[in-house]
Amino acid sequence: MSLADEDLRVQAQALRDGTASSEELVREHLARIERHAGLGSFVHVDADGALAAARAADAARAAGSRAPLLGLPLAHKDVFVTRDMPTTAGSRMLAGYRSPFDATVVARLREAGAVCLGKTNMDEFAMGSANENSAHGAVRNPWDPRAVPGGSSGGSAAAVAARLVPAATGTDTGGSIRQPAAMCGITGIKPTYGVCSRYGMIAYASSLDQAGAMARSAWDCAMLLGAMAGFDERDSTSVRHAVPDYTAALDAPREGADAARPLAGLRIGLPREWFAQGLADEVEQAVREALAQLRGLGAQLVDIGLPRSELSVAAYYILAPAEASSNLSRFDGVRYGHRAEHYADLAEMYANSRAEGFGAEVKRRILIGTYVLSHGYYDAYYLQAQKIRRLIAQDFLRAFESCDLIAGPVAPTVAWDLGEKADPLANYLADVHTLPASLAGLPAMSVPAGFGRGEHARRPVGLQLVAPHFGEARLLHAAYQLQRATDWHRRAPAL
Ligand code: GLN
Repeated sequence: MSLADEDLRVQAQALRDGTASSEELVREHLARIERHAGLGSFVHVDADGALAAARAADAARAAGSRAPLLGLPLAHKDVFVTRDMPTTAGSRMLAGYRSPFDATVVARLREAGAVCLGKTNMDEFAMGSANENSAHGAVRNPWDPRAVPGGSSGGSAAAVAARLVPAATGTDTGGSIRQPAAMCGITGIKPTYGVCSRYGMIAYASSLDQAGAMARSAWDCAMLLGAMAGFDERDSTSVRHAVPDYTAALDAPREGADAARPLAGLRIGLPREWFAQGLADEVEQAVREALAQLRGLGAQLVDIGLPRSELSVAAYYILAPAEASSNLSRFDGVRYGHRAEHYADLAEMYANSRAEGFGAEVKRRILIGTYVLSHGYYDAYYLQAQKIRRLIAQDFLRAFESCDLIAGPVAPTVAWDLGEKADPLANYLADVHTLPASLAGLPAMSVPAGFGRGEHARRPVGLQLVAPHFGEARLLHAAYQLQRATDWHRRAPAL
């Protein structure tokens, strides 16, 4: 087994021990990225920049630097702006765009020593659940090339699953970290809204957008998140909340627990609405087996209700497009990226640039969003959706009175076939399990929990864990303890 097959934690140890250099590690990953270019997971690779950064990391280590991610390779979702590389957000609209500055998350990971190998594919402006809405083309699921990788962070998920990088950034507005992580059999965490800076993250729905970590294990996610999180004065919704030592929390003993039952005393709520109609048997079975494991580790499973969960699809698909229609008005052919070649006057320049630059799904959302915000419909749709959002958040608050974490499926099915869900509504409905935590701004994770059955035997299933606000350490602790007892997160696709 080569070091590139190992997870971030093992790679970090090898660099610390001096058994490998960052340059060797980065070279090995670059070769894999090239070999598996057919997956479509990367939209830009910066081999020269990465090798230079790796050599600088090796030199820094020799000079005594102990930066937490020093010399470790990673990739960024192409929604984060980067000074040294183009940023497209999966859109033709941003073809050729180069940001004059780095996103805060990008800058912080660099300061922590990480070496960025390139940018990963995504649904255009993060709108989608299968990565089929990218101007760069679809991404294949490394487990099964006929399957989608999930979306919108499908490139990051596929790249980590295929061992092209040990870790990657993602963003989650309504499930875009958790759902592709589940479908590619990796671990992903979306922190509490406000924990990671949105500065330099191309906006989709600003009240929901949150950056997070995608990697092989809870441990690796903890390492990454520790470097990404923290207050940023450049983001007005960034929260002044001290960043705990997430890796130290992974194995911190709970009161009343012991080595055999590390989760003793932890109450895990199972929302009955999440195990209802529409959940595929093969997903339910894998999730229930993971829950049995958690119980074996000492957790207590309790029945809870999140009665307004079902309304999350309707509410989200009004609120997110509303915010998107406003955010995307800045792409007008004047300020960034694509400008139409032919136009008679200014109005036509705007219209032609936007008609040519945006893909079909983005246009659909701009239309829906503009509609629900327009005079006469604002009260009927947008305001109602805001009220439902509040009720969904209240459901969680009430549920957390009787449990410490909430668990359930990430998605109702395993990954579907490329091209299978042509109907936009079918994609929207598949978000039903991830949207509630997004609307409530809660931290949530996806943890590998097995595979489907029969012809889906190579399609991973994810277990979702949700914590109260700022409960990232509690989430990561439970996920890490589960991963100590199981090996789903260690499985690798045969490529
Ligand atoms: N699938 C959802 C959407 O299309 C969520 C996407 C996301 O989290 N960025 O909006």
